Amino acid sequence: MSKQLIIIGAGQGGLSASIYAKLHGWDVLVIEKRELPGGKAAQIDVAGFQLDPGPSIIILTHLYDQVFQAAGRNPRDYLNFTPLPTLSRVYFEGQSMIDLPADLDACRSLLRQVAPQDLAGFDKLYSTLRKAAPLVDKSVFSQPFRDPKDLLSPALLKFGFHFNPFRDYKTLVDQYFKSDLLRSFFYGFPSYGGQSYHSKAPGAFLIPFYMIEHGVSFPVGGVRAIPAAFHRLAVELGVEFRFNTGISEIETANDRVAALITDQNERITADAIISNVDPWTLGPQKQPPTKSASFSYFTAHWGLNKKVEGLDHHTLFVPKTYEESFRELYADRQFPTRPIVYVNDTHHLDPVSLPITESFVSPLPSEEGLREGQNDETPTLKSVEQESLIFAVITAPSQEPHINWQAQTPEYVQRIRHELALHNISFNDEDIVFERIQTPDLFAQRDGNFRGSLYGGDEQFRQWGIFPPVNIDPKVKNLAYCGGAVQPGAGLPMVTLSGKFAVDLLK
Ligand SMILES: Cc1cc2nc3c(=O)[nH]c(=O)nc-3n(C[C@H](O)[C@H](O)[C@H](O)COP(=O)(O)OP(=O)(O)OC[C@H]3O[C@@H](n4cnc5c(N)ncnc54)[C@H](O)[C@@H]3O)c2cc1C
Repeated sequence: MSKQLIIIGAGQGGLSASIYAKLHGWDVLVIEKRELPGGKAAQIDVAGFQLDPGPSIIILTHLYDQVFQAAGRNPRDYLNFTPLPTLSRVYFEGQSMIDLPADLDACRSLLRQVAPQDLAGFDKLYSTLRKAAPLVDKSVFSQPFRDPKDLLSPALLKFGFHFNPFRDYKTLVDQYFKSDLLRSFFYGFPSYGGQSYHSKAPGAFLIPFYMIEHGVSFPVGGVRAIPAAFHRLAVELGVEFRFNTGISEIETANDRVAALITDQNERITADAIISNVDPWTLGPQKQPPTKSASFSYFTAHWGLNKKVEGLDHHTLFVPKTYEESFRELYADRQFPTRPIVYVNDTHHLDPVSLPITESFVSPLPSEEGLREGQNDETPTLKSVEQESLIFAVITAPSQEPHINWQAQTPEYVQRIRHELALHNISFNDEDIVFERIQTPDLFAQRDGNFRGSLYGGDEQFRQWGIFPPVNIDPKVKNLAYCGGAVQPGAGLPMVTLSGKFAVDLLK
């Protein structure tokens, strides 16, 4: 008889784990608190719009493909990606708008025009990363690191050799680049992993490297198509799902999980458990590794009765005072007075995200952070030419005693709209069909994230100063973890790998 495995949570990490576990012969049941799979990447429906709730920069698509291939399937039967010609549009205050091309030679030509003083630094960094990236494939992406002696992995040692391990990320950026344009662009990358530029995180350079080297893609059907495809494969393989059921406690006895207690007060037992929830909010590790959490996001989605012009799929708005913005964020843990704003213009590539031309209904009233728009209840005829769906993402501190997210939200939204308006990207209140806000409070309450952060404890408390915690509980033998708070870390491709690591460690 197969052994039974329960996975708590059907985020991208839990979905990936469910597939690998099934392929390894486990009987798998996924228990998910919400009514649908996908976690932070799951589709949200508002007023006829279909929203991607946050993730938008899709890189390393081969890591998704590997999962379908492991199951003997053709990935293209499940998920298709459109490569984007432009990595990002950038509006740097006081300078002309630029489009960063998704091609190395075109990037270099652009640099020659807009920041010639940085071309040599860019070339040096790029050639270093070309040597270093395969070493990451062989080490960090291939297995979790459990023991300090794993640091002696030849690939990892060679990677460290390419960067000065005693310098923080900001110092390295400042060594490579002198222009405000490149510094402001590069300073943000550690935050993709929830870290600041004070961390010793040369791995953050890999994100722009992968963007140029492998491209940035848009999944056909939106980012929400990724977890949907994983869910479909899991169901086909025979994974069972139970939705609308939260786990409120993991009960342990004699170094093993004895039972899971549901929010309906049932006791469920299994041979092993993988939790897709942060170890410090659910489970035996009652003590968080740190008081300080990794960074989070503040988002504002707008469905508009208006076409917004001037945006590319990814657009970045950088104030002249970007250094102050990063200081407020990274050092003071404040929402910056003048935030660096990322905007995703969803509807150009994803027209199905817009309401169909008729039967327009008012927004769902119960959704957290949702403010009803100005439309009345009367169904209105719309056309795709008259509507937009855009969303802004701002790197933000997690829950902090000095921030009341709910009270501050109107002010933060105004700050975002102000930055856009400086570049003539604006809309009136009357144009808003709905506005949907996500703050760290939502990630804490709904997803069980440690203090509303996306990636667990902050950089000071990484294992041996480098890695997020390992994917198996240090004391409870049949309990493993997947998701953004554990190895290999942040973002959809990494949490996909974390599902594999969790299953490998349970084996
Ligand atoms: C605004 C924003 C922008 C982002 N941008 C990008 C990007 O551009 N590119 C990228 O790659 N990544 C991006 N990310 C990160 C990416 O979305 C996450 O890393 C990833 O979705 C997290 O997946 P996960 O499986 O770790 O957790 P989650 O998605 O949080 O899933 C956890 C699941 O567990 C369930 N759960 C929680 N508690 C319980 C419980 N007690 N019982 C049962 N179930 C429970 C939750 O309901 C949820 O379904 C972004 C994230 C956000 C929020």
